[in-house]
Amino acid sequence: MNRALDSHDRDAPIFAPDAFRLNDAQAELIGKARQFGRRVLAPRAAQHDREATFPIENFRDMHPEGLLAICVPKEDGGLGADFQTYCIAAAELGRFCGATALSWNMHVCSTLWSGALADDLPMSAEDRAAHNERRRAHYKRIIEQGAIYAQPFSEGGAAAAGTVAFGTEARPVEGGFVVSGKKIFASLSGAADYYGILCTERAESEAASRRNTLYLAVPASAQGVSVVGDWDPLGMRGTVSRTLLLKDVFVPEQEMLMPHGVYFQAATRWPHMFLTLSPTYMGLAQAAYDFTVAYLRGEMPGTPPVKRRMFPTKQIAVAEMHITLEQTKALWFQAISEARPNPTKEQVLRAYAAQHTVMENANAIAAKALRTCGGQAMLKSLALERIYRDSRCGSLMLPWTAEICVDRIGREALYEPGEKDK
Ligand SMILES: Cc1cc2nc3c(=O)[nH]c(=O)nc-3n(C[C@H](O)[C@H](O)[C@H](O)COP(=O)(O)OP(=O)(O)OC[C@H]3O[C@@H](n4cnc5c(N)ncnc54)[C@H](O)[C@@H]3O)c2cc1C
Repeated sequence: MNRALDSHDRDAPIFAPDAFRLNDAQAELIGKARQFGRRVLAPRAAQHDREATFPIENFRDMHPEGLLAICVPKEDGGLGADFQTYCIAAAELGRFCGATALSWNMHVCSTLWSGALADDLPMSAEDRAAHNERRRAHYKRIIEQGAIYAQPFSEGGAAAAGTVAFGTEARPVEGGFVVSGKKIFASLSGAADYYGILCTERAESEAASRRNTLYLAVPASAQGVSVVGDWDPLGMRGTVSRTLLLKDVFVPEQEMLMPHGVYFQAATRWPHMFLTLSPTYMGLAQAAYDFTVAYLRGEMPGTPPVKRRMFPTKQIAVAEMHITLEQTKALWFQAISEARPNPTKEQVLRAYAAQHTVMENANAIAAKALRTCGGQAMLKSLALERIYRDSRCGSLMLPWTAEICVDRIGREALYEPGEKDK
């Protein structure tokens, strides 16, 4: 990297610890993610994007750094990051490789949701003890063997949006469950060691209910697990989100990532859990802005040192991008900072607004970056066109797509729970 770039501090933290009142431990962990992103992820991102291959070596390199266990509680050997710290660290990775950050999110959520989040939810003492023992076994695999967990929930129907029970079903049998179903967009497909699926626990005569949603880690090597279909999408190509088929897969009881009925509690009482798809896109928004500043200053590696910053139209565009970025950061930071069990209505509406804002603005900033920098900036030898394509995917991600956020804000702002029109 040349001196001019260093002096301009293009890769300064997205959220400066002093300004955003982050403590030393948070700053250190987030700084570690930023440096890892710049050093390890950035050089590999273009190739995985071009070839639509999963960046498995990034995950292998995360293991010795402790990043696979960032949200594993400290007493279980992890780094013990809380929700806010994790989100900011993930945003830092998203700046350098969107696909890795998004896939990492799927992995980390299996530990965050079974860890800090589950600790906040009511459970019987017996369930709590069994859960703590089971999760320790999951964490041990991650810490000792570098095991990777995926999070395929989507099925192509209404279940991932949270309106109906999952069509993938788990039939209770002696010692565990027999699971059958299909998951689409299974990021990390073929690379994960375990697929953390949501399914409906249902005995023969029982009706399917969302209350019986089960969060289960299915070993990739189990009989009846297969990955099918191709993967050649617009963006986030390195996530390799193919289709996962489960046919009469026996899954032992100890693979439960949450006790019976607790996922439903989590989705209801800890709604910020769904904000975890947004950090990647916060990072992409920052990356598009950083690219533009460096490019217009004539400092972008791989381009001639030609300055374009003296034109008023460029300055206005950068100012507009800066304003959008700061608005996005401010709202998002507030939302991730107030994530907690049983949030107020205002906090939930703000979480939807933050998700919508990040997902839409990341792509809006990237689009303006392309227009402002010009034709040479859209070449595949530079990162901006990848950032543009990756950022387009954010609004599509269930359960909080941009459309669903608007839908819920409108409805929940105007109606109290249970209220109906005559
Ligand atoms: C790069 C990438 C990686 C992904 N990785 C994963 C993953 O690892 N795991 C996973 O589970 N999923 C993953 N997804 C899937 C994602 O969360 C969605 O499930 C998927 O994009 C839905 O596509 P669809 O066309 O089937 O949506 P549809 O269900 O057909 O919905 C289309 C649109 O209609 C709207 N809509 C849907 N339901 C409702 C409703 N009830 N009310 C109002 N509006 C609604 C939404 O805005 C939605 O975007 C990934 C997606 C992408 C793009």
